Amino acid sequence: MDKDNKDYILNIRLSRDTYEKVKNLAKKNAESVSHLVRKAIHDGLDIASDISEDIFGKEKKMPNITSYHQGIAAQDLICADCGARIKAGEKVTIGENHAGNKYYYCTVCK
Ligand SMILES: [Zn+2]
Repeated sequence: MDKDNKDYILNIRLSRDTYEKVKNLAKKNAESVSHLVRKAIHDGLDIASDISEDIFGKEKKMPNITSYHQGIAAQDLICADCGARIKAGEKVTIGENHAGNKYYYCTVCK
């Protein structure tokens, strides 16, 4: 985390219970409440981002598929739609677009 990048101020309301927990944890860790909260938000966003990527995929691509064909995965693949693991030896649907990019789909998706 960039320690010099503290340009924005956020006012948040916490319950006394939460505030006491934050204050006590900061004291226990010998750090400021602000630093602890910044760290918690930063880590929380990383986790939320990871979960979002697990659910929705890293970046929804628009593959513009022009043809599909069936195949057998020669190695472990990740479904382009749902992100499920397609194990080597399993059936896979391969979608190709004009650019020749290939996208692999599990049996549930295609
Ligand atoms: Zn799938």
